[in-house]
Amino acid sequence: MAAQEAFCRRLAERARLSFTHARLDPSAHPFCGGSPTDIRITTRYDKADALRALFAVLHETGHALYERGLPAAWARQPVGSAAGMAAHESQSLMMEMQACRSDAFLGWLAPELARAFAPDPAYGAGNLPRLCRRVVRGFIRVDADELTYPAHVVFRFRLERALIGGELQPADLPKAWNAGIEGLLGIRPPDDRVGCLQDIHWFDGSFGYFPNYSLGAMAATQLMEAARAHCRNHRSPAPSRSQPHKPPRPEPFPHLAPRQW
Ligand SMILES: [Zn+2]
Repeated sequence: MAAQEAFCRRLAERARLSFTHARLDPSAHPFCGGSPTDIRITTRYDKADALRALFAVLHETGHALYERGLPAAWARQPVGSAAGMAAHESQSLMMEMQACRSDAFLGWLAPELARAFAPDPAYGAGNLPRLCRRVVRGFIRVDADELTYPAHVVFRFRLERALIGGELQPADLPKAWNAGIEGLLGIRPPDDRVGCLQDIHWFDGSFGYFPNYSLGAMAATQLMEAARAHCRNHRSPAPSRSQPHKPPRPEPFPHLAPRQW
């Protein structure tokens, strides 16, 4: 666990998150909270799978960087606040699902994983992109791939509407959950821990929040495509013949230069 935590911390720093203004701690459900000058991110560690904690930290780092990048001169003014939670999720999902599942990032990550942990062929350079971009049905929303992720969101939105509309009683939620996820994804949760008790949103009253994830994912895709186009259009000129060309080492976060406010 200590090795995973150290690795997660190093990656967050590599993504330009300074721990002078941030903390990383363990929790049952990963989250980001605090203020632009005191950001708290959390993750959960899985002994058998270092990537679970890692991608959760990268997601929360996206949130943290967005908060840190808000204009300090306008703090506590509407213009100095986040542009809504869909925008917030676009920043975290762009980091987690777009930038950090790119060939450039995974090509850089594979040898770093090999140095930090015991050798594992699953984390080899040839297999890592397949592992990180595979499509597989699962019970847990935060671990879902981009194809099945929206099903988790649609499903929760339907349940929320039924709960608020009085068509579904809280006591009947576990049964409705299990039937609903089976209908959408064809898998039935073995218990409520990986069913209706996952996530923290309903426990803290965040009803109506889940659509932000899908809206954020759609915005993240478009923002990343715009960033890629920008990078393609601003490539440095080709080297002259007199100088031998040395290909640069892939930079994992080329678009994340520190913001100036
Ligand atoms: Zn998020």
